Amino acid sequence: MRESVTRQTGLPPAHGEDEHLSLALANSAVTLPGGHSVDLLTTPATANQWLAHHGLAPVDADMQEVCATRVRALREQVSSLFASRVGGLAPSPEAVTAINDAMTRVPTASLLQWDAGTEPCRRVPHPTTAIVDHALAALAADAADLITSPDAERLTSCGSTPCNRYLLRYGRRHWCSTRCGDRARAARAYARRSESPA
Ligand SMILES: [Zn+2]
Repeated sequence: MRESVTRQTGLPPAHGEDEHLSLALANSAVTLPGGHSVDLLTTPATANQWLAHHGLAPVDADMQEVCATRVRALREQVSSLFASRVGGLAPSPEAVTAINDAMTRVPTASLLQWDAGTEPCRRVPHPTTAIVDHALAALAADAADLITSPDAERLTSCGSTPCNRYLLRYGRRHWCSTRCGDRARAARAYARRSESPA
């Protein structure tokens, strides 16, 4: 994963992504300088690859568009919760519901199927659907853990415009990467120069 993220964005994983998969999920869509953006979950194949690289699905899970859409939808809600946490704002109720739905949707047992025309049997959900359900549950649980843990105090968004990645602050660093830090410093130096009288 490190390789593929770095190859596509030029950025190493942000601090905290190793411990928190939900942080990696939020950061799977990145805005880069120059109006570029990279989304690692645009197709079923790339979504499958992303989940596989994070140990959340087999590499050949045969994901469909509906699966990729669900992963992207959860990402949107996780990002929304992170934004609320970082900004000290009230969360969107839909985001909280989405996290709880993802955590509770995972069946703990196969269900009983029995109607007038059939013999009773236990029904196992479609394998790919079950894989995605479990992956989303793990990501949602991680987001809930992060938001409620002491780490939440260090959750911040990268301070280097236009970067939209989240990270866990360490020391005085509030940039997701050396490159973002360098860009922020250069921008500050430029602002100072243009403010000072010629
Ligand atoms: Zn950044």
